Amino acid sequence: MDALAPLVDPFHRPISYLRVSVTDRCDFRCTYCMAEHMQFLPKRDLLTLEELDRLCSAFVGLGVRKLRVTGGEPLVRRNIMEFFRAMSRHLGQGLDELTLTTNGSQLARFAQELADCGVKRVNVSLDTLDPDRFAQITRWGRLPQVLEGIAAAKAAGLRVKINTVALKGFNEDELFSLLDWCAGEGHDLTFIEVMPMGDMGEEQRLDQYSALSDLRGRLQERFTLTPLAERTGGPARYVRVNDTGQKIGFITPLTHNFCESCNRVRLTCTGELFMCLGQEDRADLRAPLRASDDDGILRDAIREAITRKPKGHDFDYSRRADGGHVSGQMPRFMSHTGG
Ligand code: SAM
Ligand code: SF4
Repeated sequence: MDALAPLVDPFHRPISYLRVSVTDRCDFRCTYCMAEHMQFLPKRDLLTLEELDRLCSAFVGLGVRKLRVTGGEPLVRRNIMEFFRAMSRHLGQGLDELTLTTNGSQLARFAQELADCGVKRVNVSLDTLDPDRFAQITRWGRLPQVLEGIAAAKAAGLRVKINTVALKGFNEDELFSLLDWCAGEGHDLTFIEVMPMGDMGEEQRLDQYSALSDLRGRLQERFTLTPLAERTGGPARYVRVNDTGQKIGFITPLTHNFCESCNRVRLTCTGELFMCLGQEDRADLRAPLRASDDDGILRDAIREAITRKPKGHDFDYSRRADGGHVSGQMPRFMSHTGG
C-alpha cells in the first residue's frame, strides 16, 4: 500500500476528521462533564505542543481534512496559539478546516489570533443565558465573560455555533429564549443530549437526561421545521426553521444511531487514540511517536488503530423507563477525549 494512502476503516468509512484534546484541564467544572474535585493528569504525561504537531501532521498526511481542537478547555493550555499557528500551515495543503470547541471564557483574548490563523468557525458551549444558572451549571464560570468572548469572536469575523446541552429541569424552559438570542446574534445553535460519560452515579445521569425528541416536538408546535439533508459524518441532524430561516442542530447519539457514517477519531493529550467516543478501546500513539523521528512507525501504528475502529457505540438509555438503567456507561470523563 502507498505509505500515504488515505485511512479507511474495516466498514469502508474514510477517516477524514480528527478531534484532538490538547488538555484535560478546564477553568470550569460543568456538572454534567466533570466531578467537582477532578484529578487531572500530571503535566509530565502530556505530549508537548511539538509532539501534538507531529501527530496531527501525520494524520493530515494520511488524509485527515478537518481538525478540531478541544479539551478540557483548549484555550487554557499554555502557548496554545503556537499550536494553532503551526497547524494553520496545513490549511489548503490537505487540511480544509481548522476549528475549535471552547467554553468561551478565553475567547476575548484569543479570537483575533484564531481568525489570523485561518480559523473560520468556533463552537462555543453555552447552556443558559441566566447568570445564576450559568454559575450553577459551570460551578466556576461567569456568564458575562463568556458573552464577551462570543462577541469578540463575532467581531473577529468567526462564525459562532452555540452548543447547548439539554438538561432536564434546568434549561428546558430556555429553548425559545436561546433560539431568539442566537437568531438575533446570527449564531447557529445545536442542542446536545447528555451522554453517560464519567462516573457520577447512574441516578444523577438519569436526572440530567432530557430527550431531544421532546424539545423538537415543542419547536414544531410553534414553527414549521424542514429537515435538512446536510450531514457532517457525525451525530448532528439539522432542521431549518422556515419562519426565521435559522438552522438548528440536534445531537442525539442516544436516540438515533449515527455510527454508519462516522468519519472521525479522537486523540487525547497523552497520545491515546480513541476510535469511538462510546467505546474504551484505544491505541497508544505516544510510544511509536517517540520511538523514532521518522514517521513510518507512527503511520503504521495509526493504520493499525484504524483497523480496530468499531462499528458503533453502545450507549443506551432505552431501559430507563423500566427501572432506570443506563447501559454503555463510559468511565471516562468527556474532557478526557474531548466532546
Ligand atoms: N471546554 C470546551 C467546551 O466546553 O466547549 C470543550 C470541551 S467540552 C468536553 C466539549 C462539549 O462536550 C461541550 O459542548 C460540552 O457541553 C459537551 N459535554 C461535556 N460533557 C458532556 C456529556 N456528558 N454529555 C454531552 N455533552 C457533554
Ligand atoms: Fe470544561 Fe467544557 Fe467540560 Fe465544561 S464542558 S467542564 S467547559 S471541558
